Amino acid sequence: MRASVSLMAAPVLDPTSTADRLAAAGERVTRQRLLVADALAAHARQITAQHLYERLRKREPRIGRATVFRTLEALVSAGVARRLEQDGHVYGYVACRPEHHHHLACDRCGRVEEIDEGYITPVAERVAADLGFTIDDARLDFYGLCAACRAAEPTG
Ligand SMILES: [Zn+2]
Ligand SMILES: [Zn+2]
Repeated sequence: MRASVSLMAAPVLDPTSTADRLAAAGERVTRQRLLVADALAAHARQITAQHLYERLRKREPRIGRATVFRTLEALVSAGVARRLEQDGHVYGYVACRPEHHHHLACDRCGRVEEIDEGYITPVAERVAADLGFTIDDARLDFYGLCAACRAAEPTG
């Protein structure tokens, strides 16, 4: 991090603001990056970088494909978004709230549910105790069919 001298108090970061979350992670905050982040959050499902780029280009014709792809990576490293695996080595991206959490991802409609750490903590504690491991971080993504897609499945 670059040293800076300031006579003003450090700005209070708003943990819910995308710009502040990016800045806190040492990422550049630009108008285009915020556009990408907003579009991802508005989508509310997982989306590939290519599809997000195609959607954004309709209202922001000057945005570059590389900008969208690089911004998504920056959002992931800042914890503002997560990357989920899709079939065929393709990644889906989803906007994430700041609290630590895990995901249930629907393979059919792309819906992503966030699940609280509370579900995972007992598993992590048991694994840590059994294997003598200190666990610092965990990212668990579950893949399957959401309730709506299951309900639409033909029965029998
Ligand atoms: Zn998330
Ligand atoms: Zn679904």
